[in-house]
Amino acid sequence: MKGELKKNKVRRIIVNLDKCNGCRACELVCSAVHAKPKYSSINPARSRIQVVMDPLNDEYVPIRACDYSKAGCDGRRVYMINEKKYSECSFCGTVCPTRDLFKEPDSGLPLKCDMCEDEKEPLCVQACPDGVLTYEEEEEVEEEVKPGEMEIGLKSLVDKYGLQKVADTFARMSQKG
Ligand code: SF4
Ligand code: SF4
Repeated sequence: MKGELKKNKVRRIIVNLDKCNGCRACELVCSAVHAKPKYSSINPARSRIQVVMDPLNDEYVPIRACDYSKAGCDGRRVYMINEKKYSECSFCGTVCPTRDLFKEPDSGLPLKCDMCEDEKEPLCVQACPDGVLTYEEEEEVEEEVKPGEMEIGLKSLVDKYGLQKVADTFARMSQKG
């Protein structure tokens, strides 16, 4: 018995590092569209995209606030992209504990990119003058598990291991989150 097919829309922003000139228009428009009320202020510190800049080395790396992860840093690695060198710090600014990127200045709460959910196309992409940021949408199809199938699977687990063991396992899994 096959489950129903479910369509998910995957939205991405592609970054062409070579072209970024550090103008920061993306930061300005992002902070403006997320101001309350909308467009009432511009403060790059509230932007969900931040351009990590090292002008002496001609490095400009626009980074969006996506899911958080912790990272240790030895700060010595160098990445080569299209034959240009980028220092490790340019990419790790989002997670580096020594930086204060992506925190709401007043409350300290984390900021997160919502892909400008009310807009047809993300505003940072629209504002970027050099085509550094481009937007893509793709439909992903996945099979949805029918409730009936789930019950059959659970029943066979309960038959095999007993209700208590299955319940304990679910409780452990939900704690790991
Ligand atoms: S997609 Fe929207 S919310 Fe995300 S960084 Fe760009 S302007 Fe900000
Ligand atoms: S608007 Fe485009 S060119 Fe300007 S800093 Fe942002 S990504 Fe770079």
